Amino acid sequence: MPQPPRRSQEPWQEMLKLINRCPACSTAYDTREARLFQKTERATLLHLTCTGCQSFFIAMVVKIGAGMGSLGMITDLSFDDIKRLYRTPEISTDELIAGYLWLQQPGNVINSFSRGPARLEQARGGRAV
Ligand SMILES: [Zn+2]
Repeated sequence: MPQPPRRSQEPWQEMLKLINRCPACSTAYDTREARLFQKTERATLLHLTCTGCQSFFIAMVVKIGAGMGSLGMITDLSFDDIKRLYRTPEISTDELIAGYLWLQQPGNVINSFSRGPARLEQARGGRAV
């Protein structure tokens, strides 16, 4: 009896065999639902959604010599978020430092939250206790 033609798989699809369970709830991923969002010569970035807990997972599959490796993380980014954000320019070191300095400014409302209720009261113009 003739066998149905086997669909050839991309190397990143083979690697999905190693990314088989959600790290949050251990539900098996439906790897047929893995979505590719970036592919370069050496690396492939994939997005997976857990059917058990609906968490999102990003995996990077990288060619290392003749083999392959993978790295992944749970994220709160949906596939649509990633499609929108992954091409945005990265944050520079200067922008990061400027953001940090902005957060340290006295009277900054966000800064007041991180220093406790007395500082928050001062930021509102009240008296510190
Ligand atoms: Zn899960």
